[in-house]
Amino acid sequence: MQLTQQIYLDNAATTPCDPRVVEAMLPYFTEKFGNAGSRNHRFGWDAEDAIELAREQAAKVIGANAKEVIFTSGSTESNNLAIKGAAEMYARAPKGQSGRGHIVTVAHEHKAVLDPVRRLMREGFEATFITPPADGVITVDHVREALRPDTILVSVMWANNELGTINEVPQIGRLCHDREIILHTDATQWVGKMPTAVETDCIDLLSWSGHKIYGPKGVGGLYVRRRKPRVRLESLVDGGGQERGMRSGTQNVTGIVGFGKACEIALAEMDKDRAHLQPLRDRLERELTSRLEVCQVNGHPTKRLPHISNISFAFVEGESLMMGVRDIACSSGSACTSASLEPSYVLKSLGIGDDLAHSSLRLSFGRWTTAKDVDAAIGLIERAVNHLRSMSPLFDLHKEGVDLSKIVWQSH
Ligand SMILES: *Cc1c(COP(=O)(O)O)cnc(C)c1O
Repeated sequence: MQLTQQIYLDNAATTPCDPRVVEAMLPYFTEKFGNAGSRNHRFGWDAEDAIELAREQAAKVIGANAKEVIFTSGSTESNNLAIKGAAEMYARAPKGQSGRGHIVTVAHEHKAVLDPVRRLMREGFEATFITPPADGVITVDHVREALRPDTILVSVMWANNELGTINEVPQIGRLCHDREIILHTDATQWVGKMPTAVETDCIDLLSWSGHKIYGPKGVGGLYVRRRKPRVRLESLVDGGGQERGMRSGTQNVTGIVGFGKACEIALAEMDKDRAHLQPLRDRLERELTSRLEVCQVNGHPTKRLPHISNISFAFVEGESLMMGVRDIACSSGSACTSASLEPSYVLKSLGIGDDLAHSSLRLSFGRWTTAKDVDAAIGLIERAVNHLRSMSPLFDLHKEGVDLSKIVWQSH
């Protein structure tokens, strides 16, 4: 059994529930256990009231009207419903035919966007995956160049979950609005951290999730614009017709109550949270880049969320680095795919080589991360990197001034 206390710097993967969220949820497990679909008694009415309050709270944090919020099981489902639902609704040809329409997205989107788009490609749609520039930021020009006369849907995340980089979503919104193309944005990392105004920013569909904003897991939201234009979606789950027919199934009342409360707190404390997070991130990056040579912060230096840092350490091996920093709970630049370790496709899409991608760390901060946690993490990372480099012949060559990119390696 491992007894060491890990420092949690993986808040982009998930966050703990805020105790105020848990407190708001508790009555809905026991005395207020009703089904919001029960229209004939107090139990049902209480559940429905609680859901409608949560819908108001959720709408407020994104600048929407409550009627425009659909509750789902999280961002993966929201992305699937938005992308497949819009593609099917606005298809230019019937099912089974080709030429059903063109979709634009980005190579460094989350899998929960890429995989639905890939499925649609097997079902008669075409897609363009924009290659991001080295700084990771997708601009309105990137999107404009990718549009075609038959483009029906654009999906560009607001901020990237591995890099924290922020894309030009409001500008992309105006472009899509002018061209009458539906814009979806996966805003899972953005909402709750940054001010959001779907109405003025011309967003048609927006996904976000409870467990990334100190709410419970398994609940999230999809914003579906109701006017100018009224966006319609083909549902994925059919049944009782809950959530305006777009997402049938008895609502997860406790989860929705928690999600609403998490949205309310995120909006009320956004400035405070940001003022807490950004200095922690800056301190970590400043200390590591000054104490260690050949380490780079990935992604645009300023167009970035306050809580995510992605750093590559040259001349260390990825798995050894993760072992060396095992007292820190964080993400590596490697992803486990069917028993093999693959370099992160997000880092690769920026042109970062496989080795450097493997020796990268994503460190992400949260509402309860302390300066003491960050200082401890800095020390652990510095020690691990220095230790691994002390055993690296390549690092010795680098220190002697040999340009390793110019070496022709002898093959045996
Ligand atoms: C976490 C995350 C998701 C998946 O959200 P779930 O609610 O866990 O399904 C999707 N997109 C981004 C950008 C994320 O960070």
